[in-house]
Amino acid sequence: MNFREKYQDFFDTLHPSHKDEKRFVPAVGSQGSDYMLIGEAPGANEVEQKEPFVGRAGKKMDDILSDIGMDRSELYITNLVKVRPPDNRDPKKKEIEAWAPLLEEEIENVDPEIIITLGNFPSRYMLDTPKGISQIHGRIFTREGQKIMPVFHPAATLYDQSKTPDLEKDFRKAFGKEDSGQQKLSDL
Ligand code: URA
Repeated sequence: MNFREKYQDFFDTLHPSHKDEKRFVPAVGSQGSDYMLIGEAPGANEVEQKEPFVGRAGKKMDDILSDIGMDRSELYITNLVKVRPPDNRDPKKKEIEAWAPLLEEEIENVDPEIIITLGNFPSRYMLDTPKGISQIHGRIFTREGQKIMPVFHPAATLYDQSKTPDLEKDFRKAFGKEDSGQQKLSDL
């Protein structure tokens, strides 16, 4: 059963103004994953390949994951809003509200050990806070008994390289891959 079929009941109730099959991107990953990543909304590459985080931000995320010994196949990756907003604009409150029940169903089904929210939009939704990601990234919060860690969006690290070490550090903490601090010979 694919994603669309699995959540057919949700799609039956989704208001037609939010239905856009051409711009829709389903989640990817194992239903039994311990780790769930929530992005903002798909971009052009994601729509083309029908998979979240396959564009530049996705490649950057994959690189960081590989540096810390993780692979995206170990994760469940989804988006807060599952259709691409026009002209890469931010998702609107109405769109977030329309897609939120689907995200809640995914969370219930996957029931991960930890949910990692990428950037402001999913972090603010999941933690019900107006705080910005710079203030809260890397901390573990609980929501209905589930651990949530907000982290910088990988796209933000493309614009501001100084955020890359923060994202790596936060990912390490979330995945239990904390750096031993041991020097590598190649660092000498
Ligand atoms: N940015 C997101 O937030 N989600 C994607 O799927 C791709 C880029």
